[in-house]
Amino acid sequence: MATDAQAFVKEIPSKSEQFSEWYTAVCLKAELADYSPVRGCMVVRPYGYALWENMQRWLDDRFKATGHVTAYFPLFVPEAFLKKEAEHVEGFAPQVAWVTHGGDEKLAERLAVRPTSEAIIMPMYARWIQSYRDLPVLLLQWCSVVRWEKATRLFLRTAEFLWHEGHTAHATSEEADAECRTILEIYRQLLEDVLAIPVLVGKKPPSEKFAGGDWTYTLEALMPDRQAIQAGTSHFLGQNFAKAFGVKFLDRDNVEKPVWTTSWAVTTRLVGSLVMAHGDDRGLALPPRIAPIQVVIVPIPGKEREKVLAAARALAERLKAVARVRLDDRDEYTPGWKFNDWEMRGVPLRLEIGPRDVAANQAVLVRRTGGPKATVAIEGVEQAVARALDEVQGEYYARGKAFLDEHTLSVATMEALEEAMRERRGFVRTNWCGDQACEDAIRARTGASPRVIPLDDRPQGACLVCGRPSTATVYYARAY
Ligand SMILES: [Zn+2]
Repeated sequence: MATDAQAFVKEIPSKSEQFSEWYTAVCLKAELADYSPVRGCMVVRPYGYALWENMQRWLDDRFKATGHVTAYFPLFVPEAFLKKEAEHVEGFAPQVAWVTHGGDEKLAERLAVRPTSEAIIMPMYARWIQSYRDLPVLLLQWCSVVRWEKATRLFLRTAEFLWHEGHTAHATSEEADAECRTILEIYRQLLEDVLAIPVLVGKKPPSEKFAGGDWTYTLEALMPDRQAIQAGTSHFLGQNFAKAFGVKFLDRDNVEKPVWTTSWAVTTRLVGSLVMAHGDDRGLALPPRIAPIQVVIVPIPGKEREKVLAAARALAERLKAVARVRLDDRDEYTPGWKFNDWEMRGVPLRLEIGPRDVAANQAVLVRRTGGPKATVAIEGVEQAVARALDEVQGEYYARGKAFLDEHTLSVATMEALEEAMRERRGFVRTNWCGDQACEDAIRARTGASPRVIPLDDRPQGACLVCGRPSTATVYYARAY
C-alpha cells in the first residue's frame, strides 16, 4: 500500500512549490482534459465534462425558473455584422478566427467563427421585436466560442471553450440592469453554494468592461497562488447594440425606441478554478455538490469475497436515494490502490466495508478533507452520508473564505500597495478618484489590474495616487 501511495504522489508535483505544474498534472492525471492535435484547443474528457454538466444542469434550472428560454444561433458571423458595433469589433478583432473558403471556393465575404454572438443575435432581434408586447426577450444558448489565444492553458485559456451566453432585450434601462443583477446572483450562488468558491461581487472599472457595453458586473475569486480569476460576467449593454443593429420597438406611448440589452456568461474556465481552489498534493478535491461521484464504496473482501460484495452492493443500492454513488468492485486492483485513485479523483467520501464490518452491520466512512475514519451503522447510513456530504461542503467553503479574508487587505498609499503586490499579493483594496491616469499609474507600478468595485460601495478617503477625494473603492490583484 505504501508503494501505491508513493507512486501516485510522485506523478503530482507539490501544489505549494510548483503550482502551475501541479495544476496541469492534476487535470491530466484525474482525466479531466487532454491536449489536442489542434494548437490551443483541448479535449474535455468524460470526468471533466461531468463537472461541466453538473454546473450546466444547476444553472439551466435557475435560468428556466427565472423565465429564460434556450435557442441556437449559427457558429458563423458575417464580417459586416461583426463590424456594426465599432467598439465591439475593435475589442475582439485580434482574436477572431476567420473562414475564407467553402471547399475550394473563396467566399465573397469572410465569416467570423463566433467569439461571442451579439452580432448574429441582434439582427434576429431586429426582425422579431416590433412592440413593447414582444418584450422582454430572455434568451440564452449553450455552445462553444473561439478566441485565437496565443498562450493557452487547460480550461483556463483555450482557443475554443464551452459556455452559455445569455442575450436579453428590455423596454427600460432599469429592467435591463435588474436582469444583469438577477444573473449575477445566480452566478454567485453557483460559485459559493455549489463550487464552494467565495467571490468578490461588483462592477468592473470602465477600462475592464465588455467591448461595446456600458458596464460589466463581475465575480472575482482568489486562487491559491493569490492571483485573481474572473469567474463570471454580466454585461449591461445599454442601447449600443440595439442602435447599431436597428433593434427598435413601439413603446406604450407610441414612440419608437431602441431596446436595452444585456449579455452574460460563465465558461468551462470554472472547471479550472475548481481544480485550483480545492485540490492538494494528492490530486483533485471536489465539493460534494459538484462532484460527479459523491461516495465511492470500496469492498475489502478478505476471505469472504461473496459475502462482502453482496453487502457492498446492498449498501450502494441504499445510498442511491441520497447521493451519486459508485461501487468499485473491480478485482484487478487492490483496495489500497483504489483508495489512492479515488482520492486523486477528488471523491468527497469513501465507504470501506470488510468481513468484520459485514458481521457488525457497519461500514467505515473516510472524508477526502481528512480527519479520523468513522464507523457508521448500516441502519441509518443514508442520514450519516447526507450529513457528512453537507459538512464536507461547508468545510471547503470555510477554508476558501478564510483564505480570501486572509489575503484581502486595505492600503492607503502607493508604497503600501507596491509592497503588498510584491510580498503578499491577493486582493488589495484602494480608494480611487475615477481618473484613468491614476489607474494606469497603479498598473504600471504594480503589475496588478483593477478587478472589481463592490456592489454596495461607499467610497471614502482620498485617491491613493493623486490625493483627490475617492469616488470608488477598487480591489486590485494580479490576475489570470
Ligand atoms: Zn486619483
